[in-house]
Amino acid sequence: MDLSRFPRRRYTPFVTPIEPMPRFSAALAASCPGGVGPEVWVKRDDQLGLFPGGNKTRKLEFLVADALAQGCDTLVTVGAPQSNHCRITLSAAVKEGLQCRFVIEERVPGTYDLNASGNQFMFRLMGVESQRAVPAGSDLKAALQDELDALAAQGRKGYAIPTGGSNAIGGLGYVACAQELQQQWFDMGLRLDEVVVGSGSSGTHGGLVAGFLGNRIDVPVVGVGVSRDPADQVPVVHREAQAVCDLLGLNLQVPVEAVQCVGGYWQPKYSVPNARMVEAVQMLARTEGILLDPVYTGKIMAGLIGLARGGRWKAGQKVLFLHTGGLPSLHAYESIVLGDGAGLAP
Ligand SMILES: *Cc1c(COP(=O)(O)O)cnc(C)c1O
Repeated sequence: MDLSRFPRRRYTPFVTPIEPMPRFSAALAASCPGGVGPEVWVKRDDQLGLFPGGNKTRKLEFLVADALAQGCDTLVTVGAPQSNHCRITLSAAVKEGLQCRFVIEERVPGTYDLNASGNQFMFRLMGVESQRAVPAGSDLKAALQDELDALAAQGRKGYAIPTGGSNAIGGLGYVACAQELQQQWFDMGLRLDEVVVGSGSSGTHGGLVAGFLGNRIDVPVVGVGVSRDPADQVPVVHREAQAVCDLLGLNLQVPVEAVQCVGGYWQPKYSVPNARMVEAVQMLARTEGILLDPVYTGKIMAGLIGLARGGRWKAGQKVLFLHTGGLPSLHAYESIVLGDGAGLAP
């Protein structure tokens, strides 16, 4: 598939590595029934550009190019108080000489704190023009529109980026990733049995599904929900994958079976720690020296661990974990991830 017809900025001057994780795989197998588990590999999208980068970097390559093509001078986006998406959007804005404003959705009451560390610290350090907090459940589309209107009243032109950068244009970033994976697997002679990815606002999961379908890559993708169980998440991912396919002009209906989600690992709530997340963060840090974050990748890896212990993969099968980044928010949860998980939800 030829993506060159879509405007794109480049924020990562290399292909992110795919690495084996032999020590993690051995520790995981030892904790699986019968002592056998899969070979786990990792795609290092935590090394994407716009440091510290993550999956939002890929979406923003296409979104910011679109904003520039439209002559916009300000990026306006929305996210939670420790939003990686907001941080990376701001970083792209700074790099492009644009202004940047946030609408912060306080999804867990009492968590918005201007003096917090992690991403909130970086928002201020990189000079966000404004951040307006709104309560959970607010109409975010309307809040973004208010910001665009306020800019227009000053003779400026804003570009609204939805939650997580997950619309059809943003999803192209993960179509590009699908193509990158396909070429890497071919170069490495690597045959994967499944890809495990996080599933939230769904540009990552939905974009990959669209990219796998469009490029006829027949490796299954499973999304671990970070805020919803499958009954609610599958339709969100399906809609995103279809929107991306339509933008690509693929003329295909995304089969519902192509969208596989797993739930049960994000509870008690989006961004609220649980004991299995703490186990996953510690296990990967202490076997491979790779850090995960508490809000997303810690829970996503907990999902991979749970699926392996449940016998999803046979010994020797190869599973790829897509590391989507998120490192800065780890600093906002230091004592929790160093603890033993006692007192947290399972
Ligand atoms: C946003 C985010 C996700 C979820 O990706 P979506 O495209 O929103 O589904 C996963 N991991 C990290 C670190 C993120 O910041």
